Amino acid sequence: MTAAQGKYEGFKALGLKLNMQRGQPSDQDFDLSSALLNAVGPHDTTTRSGHDIRNYSAGGVAGLPEARDLFGKMLGVSADQTLVWNNASLELQGHVLTWALLRGLPGGTSGWAAQRPQMIVTTPGYDRHFLLLQTLGFELLTVDMQPDGPDIEAVEQLARSSDRVKGLLFVPTYSNPGGESISAEKAERLAGMRAAAPDFTLFADDAYRVHHLYPDDRDVAVNFIGLCGAAGNPNRAFVFASTSKITFAGAGLGFLASSAANVKAVGGWLNAQSIGPNKVEQWRHVRFLEEYPGGVEGLMARHAEIIAPKFRAVDEVLSAELGRGGELATWGTPKGGYFISLDTTLPVARRVVELAAAAGVSLTPAGATYPGGLDPHDRNIRLAPTRPPAGEVRQAMEVVAACIRLASEEHQENQK
Ligand code: PLP
Repeated sequence: MTAAQGKYEGFKALGLKLNMQRGQPSDQDFDLSSALLNAVGPHDTTTRSGHDIRNYSAGGVAGLPEARDLFGKMLGVSADQTLVWNNASLELQGHVLTWALLRGLPGGTSGWAAQRPQMIVTTPGYDRHFLLLQTLGFELLTVDMQPDGPDIEAVEQLARSSDRVKGLLFVPTYSNPGGESISAEKAERLAGMRAAAPDFTLFADDAYRVHHLYPDDRDVAVNFIGLCGAAGNPNRAFVFASTSKITFAGAGLGFLASSAANVKAVGGWLNAQSIGPNKVEQWRHVRFLEEYPGGVEGLMARHAEIIAPKFRAVDEVLSAELGRGGELATWGTPKGGYFISLDTTLPVARRVVELAAAAGVSLTPAGATYPGGLDPHDRNIRLAPTRPPAGEVRQAMEVVAACIRLASEEHQENQK
């Protein structure tokens, strides 16, 4: 038995049960927002703007004015450029994409569905983006995610190449899984670049815009709505976000920002489907977030105190066990977001996930960060440190490091 096998078998004998694949807040994070449940009482059912949150007519389909104002500020836009919906930003992304397929977006000629639409996505990326787009019938065109955002030359080339290329869906701040944030320069190029489709659209899923880990070392989130307006393409961008990782993952609010014209168009479509979103939830969020010490920023600072030690634990254990030279693996040290992306040096990601599972550590399936679940290099693994306590993260990463060492050794043996 080699040393790597011995170490792995030792972990296996412990009968561990650890989960490093859920990109979810911990119960400690949820507890920060417990007051949300009582933020609105029976005598507080009329908002400052005079809307009765119990009734259909309150606020209209784009959301309560107070909620549009609060979340618009979070995204750096005005209330009329903001639409606040129900609990998931993915649902809103699905609505906008579905209506674009049926009707096209403002500035376009017709619905995209009849045009064999293609969408650019970044890899490694978020599996649910791929699932949503492929389920809707989009053909995916992949470009690399780089430390300063999507490979911009590749995006520009694809956007120019055909009017079937309808847009780019990506995470601009603290990306899933790599934690990269787009640079101001790349964002400006996306806002101003030439595209063959008149309604080429940037779908910026800014899920982690305010999810900084360290108070003094932050990436700066860009404002695509302002940039596109300044570049003469005012309708080019939709920015999506939610409170899923701010308040409650299963019961927060999803919202979007775009030009006032796009918000009006989306409001018109949603109005055909619904008389309006859940205003009680919206008013509760407004009340709770306004009253929280320091507002959204104050709440995110409390989350960072809980989450940052878990991110540090991943880096510390991997560095101690594998070294920082990249002999067996490299990984990111993001300044925010929810994930750490790890690349094995040899094509052994699938084997690492398999070995870890057999030792009681569940990881995101290898390949999940690529469309169709197929990583062409079999090297990428998404680590999700937020849900387990820091001690469990540490233990899980020791197992993962042992699995990487063993899988790499096996691979080299097989090559002989
Ligand atoms: N977008 C990204 C990039 C995510 O990583 C996640 C969750 O992991 C979501 C969206 C889900 O957000 P929501 O709960 O608002 O649909």
